[in-house]
Amino acid sequence: MKSPLLLFITLVLVLAGSCPCPAAARDGKPNVIVIYADDLGWGDLGCYGSPTISTPHLNRMAAQGMRFTDFYSAAEVCTPSRAALLTGRYPVRNGMCHETYRVLRRNSKGGLPKSEVTLASVLKQQGYRTGCVGKWHLGHLKEHLPPNHGFEEYFGMPFSNDMMPAPDAPKGREKMFFEDTSLWRTPLIRGLDVIEEKPDQRQLTKRYTEESLKFIEKNKDQPFFLYLAHTFPHVPLFASEAFKDRSRAGLYGDVVEEIDWSVGQILDGLVRLGIDNNTLVVFSSDNGPWTLFDSHGGSAGPLREGKGSTWEGGMRVPGIFWWPSRIASGITRHETASTMDVFTTVTKLAGATPPQDRVIDGRDIAPLLFGSDRSPSDDPFFYYRGPDLYAVRIGLWKAHFITRSSYGPDKPAPHDPPLLFHLGEDPGERWDRAAKYPEVIERMRQAVAKHRANLVPAASQLIETE
Ligand code: MG
Repeated sequence: MKSPLLLFITLVLVLAGSCPCPAAARDGKPNVIVIYADDLGWGDLGCYGSPTISTPHLNRMAAQGMRFTDFYSAAEVCTPSRAALLTGRYPVRNGMCHETYRVLRRNSKGGLPKSEVTLASVLKQQGYRTGCVGKWHLGHLKEHLPPNHGFEEYFGMPFSNDMMPAPDAPKGREKMFFEDTSLWRTPLIRGLDVIEEKPDQRQLTKRYTEESLKFIEKNKDQPFFLYLAHTFPHVPLFASEAFKDRSRAGLYGDVVEEIDWSVGQILDGLVRLGIDNNTLVVFSSDNGPWTLFDSHGGSAGPLREGKGSTWEGGMRVPGIFWWPSRIASGITRHETASTMDVFTTVTKLAGATPPQDRVIDGRDIAPLLFGSDRSPSDDPFFYYRGPDLYAVRIGLWKAHFITRSSYGPDKPAPHDPPLLFHLGEDPGERWDRAAKYPEVIERMRQAVAKHRANLVPAASQLIETE
């Protein structure tokens, strides 16, 4: 007969081995995964009405979670958008809209200022393991790379996949359409070091997915934050053999369908590891579709224009939140929310306090995600192009003080009174209602004045010459 001590030890070991409660060790802190597509349009997913691109996994993510119809990136192009996501601040505050080109180009020397606090830094301080996979584009010199902004691990490209054409690549716009990966040499980096000078871009989505799954599996027993920023569907487009010539939407559809597959792999991996109920997954895009590239650019659906513009198509993007144990399934939200809100909401979920020494623009949208708060938000959302405020939205009204087409030769056109659109009856921004609603315009002006009064643009750490 076993001694009571032996029985006790056996019981403890059995219980320890069978306990499905990693949450106990994590002190209530959820894992967080942000999946960020590049130049994916509002209308490019099945669950957002695409008639041709098949996205069963993102559709499932939305059906099991929450889909926002009025979700915004805080900028109309890559770099400031990413800075806003990771700092919870309008780019005008974190310095990434001023002289953005100093970061955007391959010979730039600038980067996200060291004084900025990223979501990765906040979560790392809370005991999270932090990893970044994919496109960075917040400065590619070593001192600006993810490991110097709170990420313990990094695997990916330092900037856009079109930024380093091979010396023998054709010049001009046409090269963007060539399906030859050898024309490009944007490198792959691990940690702080280049590991491949000329990676095969057809394999990127698959490799990013494998890296992400490895990171998740390795850290499954403790809280982790994974930022998976896909290189695609930014042009030039590349899909792996398994996805090539599969979509009715051509190569653009192939590329988006491979990203959709990747999302499915991540969600299935979380379920397989038994951590789906401890994990918040967010899916979004850094800006609207690059319509300049015809069929190789995406679609903003019914929204006007695309990337590079403060019309809705430039900044309204897909926004899907998934967390099986906390977010009720199949909910569609029409309240205005933004990528900056991810910063504040996740910071609080992790038990931290957002930085108090600076203005944080992101709001805590936990009441929207987890509760029954369906009241329309009256908080204004501001549309910037570079350092200039172009438009503001409050509720369903949007006023444009300046307009300019995405990539056309036209100069910025100021409007006084501003153009006024009702995004409920007119999501395509076609019918100016300014003459009929002066009181709405007055409200917009007051919101802008209040916003400007507390606007202290970041001291520029970007005063560097190229
Ligand atoms: Mg982009």
